[in-house]
Amino acid sequence: MEDTIFGKITRGDIPTEFVYEDEHCVAINDIHPMAPVHVLVIPRKPIPKLADATDEDQALLGHLMLAVGKITRQLGVSEGFRLVVNNGEGGGQTVFHLHLHILAGRDFDEASLARGIQG
Ligand code: 5GP
Repeated sequence: MEDTIFGKITRGDIPTEFVYEDEHCVAINDIHPMAPVHVLVIPRKPIPKLADATDEDQALLGHLMLAVGKITRQLGVSEGFRLVVNNGEGGGQTVFHLHLHILAGRDFDEASLARGIQG
């Protein structure tokens, strides 16, 4: 796949503050936050989009979910957050390196659920 800004960030080519990092993923603050807390969890492995993940990625996908738990506890928002994955252009994805959006610190009613991260 083509390199993306998230490839450069995860490799450290573009210096970025990591909210969290481990062997398999990093977490950064979104440059255009849609909520008071808007963190992106990015696997170091450059899978373009969720639908491209394979059985080989099963453990990694589970790892990302557990990282979300750790990050939200670290940020004090584990009792209320939304997790969003945009998949493909039709799903609003703009950076084609899989990432999870953690959004917290504002109300999420049913109508905003339908609108995704724009809320
Ligand atoms: P997508 O639309 O692909 O699901 O989400 C991409 C997200 O990455 C957007 O929310 C956008 O604001 C964020 N983003 C794009 N470029 C950068 C960057 O260079 N640094 C950071 N921290 N976030 C970025």
